[in-house]
This record gives sequence, C-alpha cells and structure tokens, in this order.
Amino acid sequence: MTHAFDSLIDEAIRLGASDAKLLKRNGIVFDPRSLLKCRFGCNRWGKYWTCQPNIRITPEQFRDALERYQTAIAIQSPDPKISQEITLAIEKKAMLEHGAIYAFALVLCVLCEECAFPDPCRFPHLARPAMDGMGVDIAKTVEPLGFKVQFDSQGTLLPAWYSMVLLD
Ligand code: SF4
Repeated sequence: MTHAFDSLIDEAIRLGASDAKLLKRNGIVFDPRSLLKCRFGCNRWGKYWTCQPNIRITPEQFRDALERYQTAIAIQSPDPKISQEITLAIEKKAMLEHGAIYAFALVLCVLCEECAFPDPCRFPHLARPAMDGMGVDIAKTVEPLGFKVQFDSQGTLLPAWYSMVLLD
C-alpha cells in the first residue's frame, strides 16, 4: 500500500541515508530509562542546548505532544553530520510539500565542534533534540523496522545513526 509520505523515503535516500522507513506513532517506544543513560555516561549531558536538561522540555511533556502525531519516518544514516542534514531536509520537505506543519525532527545536533552552551545557540533554526533525550528507546523503535542498533566492544555506536521526523 502506498502512503502520501512515501516520497520522503526516496528523498532521504537520495540525500544520502542508508535507508528510511515510515512508522506509526504506536511503533515509537517510549521508555524513561533512556534518560538514565543520558544522565550517566554521556558526555553531552548539560553541555548542549539540544541535550537534557537544557532542552527544558521534559520527556513527559514530549510524550503529550507525541500523542498528537500519527506517522513518523525513521532514518538510518552513515554518519551524524549526514544524519542531521537529511533529517532537517525531510522536516522541511514535509512542512512545505506535504502540509505537515508540525513536522518535527529528532536528531543529534553536531553542527558545532563544541556547543556554544551556555551562550546562545549559533544555529537555533537548525538545532533539534535527539530521540533518546526525549525518552525514546531507539533500539526498540527501529528494530521492528529491520534496523539494528549495535555497539563495538569499546561502546562505540556502529555503523549507523538513527534519527526521526514526526510527520503528522
Ligand atoms: S547548533 Fe551548535 S550551539 Fe546550537 S545546539 Fe547545536 S551544537 Fe549547540
């Protein structure tokens, strides 16, 4: 069955994504334990405008907003910079060409070598929060789509980066 957002999959791949899949909102697995992994062990905690607790939107508030969406696109990319470029481009296309005015990207912000925090964000029109900082269990969300979250023995994420755009 075709979907009005299928062209966004083609566009993500054209822009350099390894793959992309549409999913329903109830396929997005929410787990507040993801915040524990952000808080302890991640060197971005408190240092980026787009990471907790600086987002100033709690996972509970995000979940309320999430309930309003029906469809999302999960994007697998070979590197974080490409991931951010593609994800923002898909957010924009969904808004301009599909009338999805609340299209919202969830992607790790890697625009700056070092985040400007606590000084103002250098690119606030491009900075978005990452999925895990909002309480999304990325592995459980993408694995039913045929993707896999893997780490090497040093704990480095291999070799795919995941992002998402909430569409409508
Ligand atoms: S655009 Fe730069 S300053 Fe803004 S959140 Fe991202 S890394 Fe930080």
